[in-house]
Amino acid sequence: MSVRVRFAPSPTGYVHIGSLRTALYNYLYARKNNGKYILRIEDTDQNRFVEGAIEGMLSSMSWAGIHHDEGAVIKGEILTEEGDYGPYVQSQRLPIYQEYIHKLLDSKDAYHCFCSKERLDEVREKQKEAGLTSKYDGHCKGLSPEEVTIKIAAGEKYVIRLKLPQNKDITFNDIVRGTVTVNTEDMDDQVLIKADGYPTYHFAVVVDDHLMGITHVIRGEEWLISTPKHIYLFEAFGWNSPQYVHLPNILNADKKKLSKRQGDVAVEDFMKKGYLPEALVNYIALVGWSPEDNQEIFSMAELEEKFSLERVSKSGGVFDVNKLNWVNSHY
Ligand code: GLU
Ligand code: ZN
Repeated sequence: MSVRVRFAPSPTGYVHIGSLRTALYNYLYARKNNGKYILRIEDTDQNRFVEGAIEGMLSSMSWAGIHHDEGAVIKGEILTEEGDYGPYVQSQRLPIYQEYIHKLLDSKDAYHCFCSKERLDEVREKQKEAGLTSKYDGHCKGLSPEEVTIKIAAGEKYVIRLKLPQNKDITFNDIVRGTVTVNTEDMDDQVLIKADGYPTYHFAVVVDDHLMGITHVIRGEEWLISTPKHIYLFEAFGWNSPQYVHLPNILNADKKKLSKRQGDVAVEDFMKKGYLPEALVNYIALVGWSPEDNQEIFSMAELEEKFSLERVSKSGGVFDVNKLNWVNSHY
């Protein structure tokens, strides 16, 4: 089976160098294996959409030399410099998510939930007081199809939730983290379709990873806790799940997660300061991955040839601007 990977940013702001590294590892893994690297804009959270973020992301990627192989053909609006392939954009795929949610409703793996925000807040408050982790209490799980039809006809607002089985272990293997197991008792009946009809990230990511034939999901470790939900969804649909690779965070010199407070973290900051794209790409590749020898200066072609997931480190890589400057001075 040929390798198909994707970089799936949400257009919520500037491109963090951690995202650049995620995109790069996906890209290198595709190149190394004669696979395909797909770009997908995950913009189903309308509240978090930032004007200009998609364009900024495309220009950062193009500057860095990370070009996607495939995408939606959108004439006019969002075009990459290479030609007709824009990225896939989730907000342009809404009918697809509607089609798939109906499959889950039909198989009783999902249900309508009409709970008001007030009720959910109350439930959460009570659980908090009792020292329990907050999760949906399943209030609407038992509604009959007739009751659901009546409520919808009366114009009641609803979301659609995943129906998790009780006390079932969900297990998957992460190439960096090894085997991860979570019991459904510790998981929530996740919202899949929101009141505005848009899918949540969790639902859209699974449908798209399946439809786009993704073989390896390489992403930041903040998504590790979401993966059991995704695995369960793949199972509910009867689909094979991809391989997962969760990359450790990029850290500051003080071993905390790299943040804007301590210095530049946006790709565009480095662009504006005149860093060479080859140098930033070269350096960022080494924050979290190591080659077999101690080579430090790489062309993109060399990275493509040498990159491997097996040599991605399990602990967070430290970003050191002095080292970046050193690399930059060697081009
Ligand atoms: N849209 C998510 C993000 O902004 C992508 C997570 C994933 O790769 O599944 O990081
Ligand atoms: Zn409910």
